[in-house]
Amino acid sequence: MKRLRIAIQKSGRLTDKCLDILDRAGLQFQFSKSRLISPCETFPADLLLVRDDDIPEYLASGTCDLGFVGENLLEERRLERQDTPGFEVISRLGFGKCRLSLATPNDVKDVSLDWYGNKKIATSYPAIVTNYFKERDIPVSVIEVSGSVEITPSLGIADAICDLVSTGSTLKSNGLKESQVLLRSECVLAQSAIGLQPEQADLVSKLVGRIEGVQLADKTRYVMMNAPKDQVEVICDILPSMEAPSVMELKGQPGKVAIHAACAQDIFWETMEKLKAVGATSVLVLPIEKVI
Ligand code: ATP
Ligand code: ZN
Repeated sequence: MKRLRIAIQKSGRLTDKCLDILDRAGLQFQFSKSRLISPCETFPADLLLVRDDDIPEYLASGTCDLGFVGENLLEERRLERQDTPGFEVISRLGFGKCRLSLATPNDVKDVSLDWYGNKKIATSYPAIVTNYFKERDIPVSVIEVSGSVEITPSLGIADAICDLVSTGSTLKSNGLKESQVLLRSECVLAQSAIGLQPEQADLVSKLVGRIEGVQLADKTRYVMMNAPKDQVEVICDILPSMEAPSVMELKGQPGKVAIHAACAQDIFWETMEKLKAVGATSVLVLPIEKVI
């Protein structure tokens, strides 16, 4: 059977989280410094460790079947090519969150979009920036730089920048302030548009199902408590359970039962206090590893 080829960032902000989610989905890899491709022993897949910027192209060309990549890079490639993008997003992963924003030196007052007219904007995302201003009929000159975008205004290369921001601390330490957000992004799992064989498509569905199971598990808590029998209905109303809770007899305590429930959200202290107030005792809230 043809194995799935999965690309992730070799070393950077997304690497550890991608490896963690794959590990929790049951995919462990054999890494070796001399090899570009790491085989998985527990799933018919191979991992390709590459620069994140290359992942959209690898997806479009079918070099990899799946890629974990920031939406910012997929959007840049989509606008750059203007043709069919060559990939589709199949899962949003909820990490690597950032925004692509315009920023100006602090001393620029009242930064409206019109301020950018005829200004030089440095960015690693020329297609997104060009498209954004074109749609708004504002002429700008876009300067493509591949890194250290935030120092270009102080070097006199550009009047403003457009770069990825998460906390804003890099902008701040370079004397810049954020003005408009062009795009919000997170890490996604994308699939190549080059057709997969049916067995590979099954593997993709299986992997996506497992990843969804891991994501759901992160949001799910298992709650256990003992409670007076006559309070079961009240307690079930308080619990945000995924399915009907299990109610079990307690040996030697005829007036009491044990209640167990999987809840599709965190259980806050307020909920535990409400449970206690209606007679629940030994209330335990446990994390969940996997859900199917
Ligand atoms: P590579 O060597 O793989 O090209 P890189 O330096 O381009 O690495 P990173 O800085 O590790 O990449 O960022 C990878 C991705 O993480 C970005 O494309 C983006 O989707 C996401 N990200 C989240 N927060 C930020 C941030 N504050 N700055 C940059 N990227 C961020
Ligand atoms: Zn990169």
